[in-house]
Amino acid sequence: MESELIEHLRRRIPSHPRLRLGLGDDAAVLRMGDIDECVMTVDLLTDGVDFELGKVDPRRVGRKALAVNLSDLAAMAALPLAGVVALALPRRGGLDLAIALYEGLLPLAEEYELAIAGGDTNSWDGPLAISITLMGKSAAEDGALRRDGALPGDKIIVTGRFGGSILSHQFDFDPRVREAILLNERYRLHAGIDVSDGLAIDLAHIAKESGCGAVLDLDAVPVAEDAKRLAVQLGDGRSALEHALGDGEDFELILAVPADEAARMLEDQPLDVLLTAVGEFAGEPGLWQTDSRKGKRRLEPGGWEHKFD
Ligand SMILES: [Mg+2]
Repeated sequence: MESELIEHLRRRIPSHPRLRLGLGDDAAVLRMGDIDECVMTVDLLTDGVDFELGKVDPRRVGRKALAVNLSDLAAMAALPLAGVVALALPRRGGLDLAIALYEGLLPLAEEYELAIAGGDTNSWDGPLAISITLMGKSAAEDGALRRDGALPGDKIIVTGRFGGSILSHQFDFDPRVREAILLNERYRLHAGIDVSDGLAIDLAHIAKESGCGAVLDLDAVPVAEDAKRLAVQLGDGRSALEHALGDGEDFELILAVPADEAARMLEDQPLDVLLTAVGEFAGEPGLWQTDSRKGKRRLEPGGWEHKFD
């Protein structure tokens, strides 16, 4: 079955100028030019944890497996170059499933001119697992955008809107690669992260890595329409704002931006997607929330975390 898949993929995947040697050998050979900083990332998605194959088209799963990686490169303001795809397939229907996963991810790879350099495919008695590793390069001369550079007084700037991603966005989102590279080129950014776990908890990650705190202005948080719809649908007392803070898989960016640069950025609004200031980083460690009604208090970051012993 694996050889059949490889034959299929060799016909299906177009040649790429970066690939001196692609699929079919023991390893791929890439032309890397004079790349100074290579940025690498890997993600693993598993049926039953990250998605349910019975409920979602496998092409959307394939697309998402690549898109979450692209989002991590976006968080580093890195330009995607090449990737490898590892699949653990259930024995029954494995070949068709693999082909569908690739049909989902290849258009996205082409959109970003990403070279699919190879991969590995196994079958087993367990559920589908798909893992993609991507290699990119720092798009700016001063290197990759990191989590640990936020300074007290920096504005917290976010792209897009938050919450309710489970209604569709979690599979169909556009990773903010071009947006991150453009912003990093035009403005001085101190730190960045993509929102995979949730707005509040990912903001806490930046603050912690930077050794400072963050104050989130609840009145300013851009709440997605899906968050409002989800709050109504579930009717469990959680507000749309709570969904925006905690749902995760928004795959938007949180940036730490010096105040003067942030003002310029908000005035320019240089992206197709909305940029919003949702608070600022502070000297006092920890995660804080404020609003016009109750003032400043602690914020417990709910959000997604894989649990294991
Ligand atoms: Mg990330």
